[in-house]
Amino acid sequence: MAAPSSLTELDDQTLLENVERLGGKSFQARQVSHWLYRHGASDYDGMRNLSPELRTALAAFAPVNSTKIATAELAADGTEKLLLLLADGETVECVIIPEGERTTLCVSSQVGCPVGCVFCASGMYGVKRNLTSGEIVEQVLHARRRLPAGRTLTNLVVMGMGEPMLNLAGLLPALARLHDANGIDMGARRITVSTSGYPQQMAQFAAADISYNLAVSLHAADDELRKRLVPTTKHSVREIVAAANSYFGQKGREVTFEVVLLEGLNDRPQDAAVMIDVLHALPCTVNLIPWNPVEELTSRGLRRPASSRVDTFAADLRRGGINVTVRRQRGADKSAACGQLRIRAQVDRAKVTS
Ligand code: SAH
Ligand code: SF4
Repeated sequence: MAAPSSLTELDDQTLLENVERLGGKSFQARQVSHWLYRHGASDYDGMRNLSPELRTALAAFAPVNSTKIATAELAADGTEKLLLLLADGETVECVIIPEGERTTLCVSSQVGCPVGCVFCASGMYGVKRNLTSGEIVEQVLHARRRLPAGRTLTNLVVMGMGEPMLNLAGLLPALARLHDANGIDMGARRITVSTSGYPQQMAQFAAADISYNLAVSLHAADDELRKRLVPTTKHSVREIVAAANSYFGQKGREVTFEVVLLEGLNDRPQDAAVMIDVLHALPCTVNLIPWNPVEELTSRGLRRPASSRVDTFAADLRRGGINVTVRRQRGADKSAACGQLRIRAQVDRAKVTS
């Protein structure tokens, strides 16, 4: 095979084949895997139980990791945003969100995003490329190394930059590796993937062996309004909700519908009424996310609703029999909130290159 960009690109079998090809034994492949995923080794020097010859041979074959942290910004509430530099010079972000006993990591799945939701920073410049499985896994490895003693990553959300359903080839092997009991060993119930709604790919995701949580970014239950918010969508609300419902049927995992609320656009009483009509019979939860303003997008006339409007919308849905949660804003002072990624790096780069 062509040399991989890092060891984290390899599944167990390929790692084994290469360790053996380079003169190692099968148990040493397991040792390498433990160094990579259990101990989070970032170089070969630390892999003390491997012979120097094997370490040298592996180092000539591929680096341990292909990404590195370019910058880290800590917000006042403890949220930390990491900007990772990829081997080809691209950048992606991930966000560590401590919350009581929990520590959630929000990871990216693509460089940019092709979907172009009108309120989202990640889609402003389109998509550059998919992340590889190794690049997705390495976001977790980097984040884990930064946690203070006694803290572990308890939850993973694929809610950073990109549309995960358009990169299942990178995402599924990455999640399987994160879930693997011999490695990072993160329970499937602690992993949530968020999509803007691609029914075919959601069916493929449902066919995976492992049952992750699925979140669907609905935003509006009326097709015309949803199309204004997610202009590239080719699927009706009905199709998307049906795919979410099939996911529940196959996996037994209740789906969360996310609704980014924008004042006067999709937070009106009639918007809540349509949502009740569409969702009331489904076992699901609606997560309301008051829009985090993106400076570069406010010229579109978008506004974050006052909390009283959010409360009214939530109360309307609840009266209609729907479970509702409201997301608090995190890391706002560093633009670190999930779904608001990369804009700074992009803007800074544009300034440098223009
Ligand atoms: N592309 C996927 C996952 C990444 S976005 C998706 O759209 O679901 C993760 C979540 O952040 C989505 O629900 C998205 O609607 C939301 N989001 C994006 N930009 C936001 C913003 N500026 N404020 C609040 N939520 C935002
Ligand atoms: Fe892409 Fe999700 Fe942002 Fe929409 S909200 S542009 S799908 S990252």
